[in-house]
Amino acid sequence: MRNPTNICLLCREKNASKRNSHIIPKFMGQGIFDGIKPRHGIMLTNTEKQSKIQDITKEDYLFCEDCEKGFSILETYCSQRLEQYNNVNYSNQFYHKATGGIEYVEFKNFDIRIFNLFIYSIIWRVSISNHYSFQKFKLQIAEEEKLRVILKQYSSSKQNDLFNSISNLKILPEHSHVIFRPVKKLRPPVSMLSAGSYNDWMHQIHLVDYVLIYLTDNSQLINELRIIDNNRVENLVRIGIVDKESWESFNFKMIDNVLRKE
Ligand SMILES: [Zn+2]
Repeated sequence: MRNPTNICLLCREKNASKRNSHIIPKFMGQGIFDGIKPRHGIMLTNTEKQSKIQDITKEDYLFCEDCEKGFSILETYCSQRLEQYNNVNYSNQFYHKATGGIEYVEFKNFDIRIFNLFIYSIIWRVSISNHYSFQKFKLQIAEEEKLRVILKQYSSSKQNDLFNSISNLKILPEHSHVIFRPVKKLRPPVSMLSAGSYNDWMHQIHLVDYVLIYLTDNSQLINELRIIDNNRVENLVRIGIVDKESWESFNFKMIDNVLRKE
């Protein structure tokens, strides 16, 4: 167990005094409980443990106050934009497109460099987490370190500081990541919160309303998905869109697979 005298895992300078750090941003995980009464979720693990939970995974003493604040700056910026897609008042903020059988939405008012830092912050935190629900997810140490270095460099305690420094971000790790969501949020959700690594380079996280596929070797991304690869510093953020039926069958298949393994 970590304690408050341990060093912060991001900056490696200050003490990791922060308690209750979310590993997955609250706005991306909390929906797992929506529309379910009494409020609970089932935490699936690779052990006998299958427990009812009332909140998404938190851990103590991973980060210092400043680094935790840096993560929250990324989350605030990105959650506002991602949530606009669910609000009809913002429908002019998006382009709807389809290329090679992939339907996707482009976000007009969304800095893709900040979006990349946000995605890295999720992937990195899940990878370094010691929590049992994320045991099956692990980047190779060298790839994990690339994300730590870039996250540390751009960690900002004020949104304006982030805006001022982000133009310096020109080179990203040679990774790929694509994200899908259903065309409409489904409530109660037909999905789960889970994370797993298939091999050294392919990693996947289910975030209730999003599925994030993360490759630490960008040459492995299949051509059809390259159009929605967001691991770049220019052009617009693109999110793959799937209809309700595809989303349900995809998620049911995965839930089924996990349960069978138990
Ligand atoms: Zn720190």
